[in-house]
Amino acid sequence: MAASEIVDIAIVGGGPVGLAAALALQHAGFRVAVLERGGVPAAFDAVDYDLRVFAVTPESANLLNRLGAWPGIAAARISPYTAMQVWERDPVHALSFDASEVGTAQLGWIIEHRLIVAALWQAAEARQLDIRLNSVIESAAFAGDNGELAALQFEDGTPLRARLIVAADGGHSPLRRWAGIETTGWSYRQQALVCHVHTEQAHQLTAYQRFLSSGPLAFLPLADGRSSIVWSAENGLAEELLALDNAAFCQRLAEASQWRLGDVLATTPRIAFPLRLQHAHDYARPGLVLIGDAAHTVHPLAGQGVNLGFGDVAQLVETLTAARDARRDWSAERTLAQYARARKASNLEMLAVTDALDRSFRSPLPGLRTALGLGMTAVGRAGPLKALLLHQAASV
Ligand SMILES: Cc1cc2nc3c(=O)[nH]c(=O)nc-3n(C[C@H](O)[C@H](O)[C@H](O)COP(=O)(O)OP(=O)(O)OC[C@H]3O[C@@H](n4cnc5c(N)ncnc54)[C@H](O)[C@@H]3O)c2cc1C
Repeated sequence: MAASEIVDIAIVGGGPVGLAAALALQHAGFRVAVLERGGVPAAFDAVDYDLRVFAVTPESANLLNRLGAWPGIAAARISPYTAMQVWERDPVHALSFDASEVGTAQLGWIIEHRLIVAALWQAAEARQLDIRLNSVIESAAFAGDNGELAALQFEDGTPLRARLIVAADGGHSPLRRWAGIETTGWSYRQQALVCHVHTEQAHQLTAYQRFLSSGPLAFLPLADGRSSIVWSAENGLAEELLALDNAAFCQRLAEASQWRLGDVLATTPRIAFPLRLQHAHDYARPGLVLIGDAAHTVHPLAGQGVNLGFGDVAQLVETLTAARDARRDWSAERTLAQYARARKASNLEMLAVTDALDRSFRSPLPGLRTALGLGMTAVGRAGPLKALLLHQAASV
């Protein structure tokens, strides 16, 4: 790397959101470089399914399509979901919603994390995107008001300067910390336990979610007929479930789902992720913007985390491009603040709804449920979730 190298935009983090941002910004005509601390991402595996999956909205699919990643994803292995069923006490009284309610063929797709990253990576290679793997950043200096460039300093001593640094470096974002941006948040004291299972009955392209008092349990349809489980359970229960042998775990899972898909016949190994809500006080500082989990981390019960990140990408590209095309300074603080304002509103809405839903179903206090204004019935309380998910599915 040359000692005085300058790019328009340096994107730190080559996860799904960082790679999407890099492709979109390069496509819009900016000179970008991606700095990723890891190596080449794992390739798509035609046999083994990745245990981490995303529920991807039609709006996100549109973005992936514009970036050239969707054809590879669709050709590999995805499962549409055309309906959702949500319940608390009794699956017979589940709140159901269907893609036909919003006039679409599906509400979204269940897609493996590894497949999305691999497809974005392939699109990046095809477009000769400047990705620098194994980049260890030692420090960052952000631009001041007088127009100086932002700078990243690498472990080997070389600097990279840019008009804008985009932090896509995940929930623990070192860049956010170096910029002194505070966050609000808390641990849910839950872990999301993830695995894939065979069930006695077919999933019928439906995503099922039961709200238990210990946290929500989701069955998401996979292309081979299995379901992907995301079981958000309080820490003690999560540890207990992780320690069970396969047969005992399948039994507990079937019980918890009230046998909605019959017996759970087999499972893969289980992995668990600690859950927290986190929201950055600022998404922008002179010379720096935050996108994806670096800006916000949301409970997975609505499957919206990466979708919010892709929404940040679309907004960032639109804001920077509009400023540049109007011959304004696209990296000016005012422009970056526009991006931040636009995204904070919708991200906060999703954070608030998912947090309120989780609290409402877990709270033993009727007072809290009433205070949240979410009603006393499962249907009433899942109403805001339904409204949001249908809105997301419809906003193509
Ligand atoms: C159990 C679970 C289930 C989920 N289910 C869904 C779902 O169904 N739908 C959904 O939309 N979302 C879901 N999410 C959320 C989703 O996983 C995240 O929102 C998404 O991965 C965020 O992507 P990102 O690119 O912002 O961050 P990350 O995926 O965390 O990527 C950050 C990248 O930055 C790199 N990096 C970090 N620090 C540095 C550094 N200093 N220098 C260089 N590189 C760095 C990392 O190596 C990594 O590649 C789920 C999350 C969990 C835990």
